[in-house]
Amino acid sequence: MKPTLSAVLLSVLPLAAVAQTEIAPTEAAFTLPDLPYAADALAPVISAETMALHHGKHHQAYVDNLNTAIGAGDAPAGVPLEDLVANAGTYPDAVRNNAGGHWNHSFFWETMAPADTAAEMSADLMQAITARYGSQEAFQTAFQDTGVGRFGSGWVWLIINDQDQLQITTTPNQDNPLMDIAETPGTPLLGNDLWEHAYYLTYNNRRPEYLANWWGVVDWAEVSDRYAAAMAD
Ligand code: MN
Repeated sequence: MKPTLSAVLLSVLPLAAVAQTEIAPTEAAFTLPDLPYAADALAPVISAETMALHHGKHHQAYVDNLNTAIGAGDAPAGVPLEDLVANAGTYPDAVRNNAGGHWNHSFFWETMAPADTAAEMSADLMQAITARYGSQEAFQTAFQDTGVGRFGSGWVWLIINDQDQLQITTTPNQDNPLMDIAETPGTPLLGNDLWEHAYYLTYNNRRPEYLANWWGVVDWAEVSDRYAAAMAD
């Protein structure tokens, strides 16, 4: 009598699961995510050349350097990116900087969308921003001013802080508000990259102009989804 299909599957699946568990730690832990749109889709706010370099070279380097650091024993293999970020202060700087770089850029690409597809923010988020800042325009001005005021390289964020309030904050280098070492911890809803590599080819030293133009490619639908998820926690 032939074994049934389900009997065959039951006999094979546990072995496959074990084999996969054993193989995983030897594989490259982290890989560069594809952009969710074409490299030229955010032009002229962000040029195709800037996107290609920023994603293909800079973000790739954070991924490669993170894998190298893990290979060198700076962090155990197989730890999820979110956990490396949350415990960044317990690892050597190579993990803090490159896990942060990988997380921040992955978040950044998802924060944006081509101008003709980017949706408006939800009524809930609009109400919260208006209550906190007076208007969307006033919020955007405050966010830009905070970004301009960040000395050197870093990020500017809109977060939900520990008191469930909206707050604008900045982090140096590739730190972010999810890290244990963050001065102002919280859940990021929105983040803009203040490194010169994010804007220099188009805007040169004009960071204020880049920050002002960036709103044209922010995907408020995605930001609104993050807000709803953060408030539901
Ligand atoms: Mn960057």
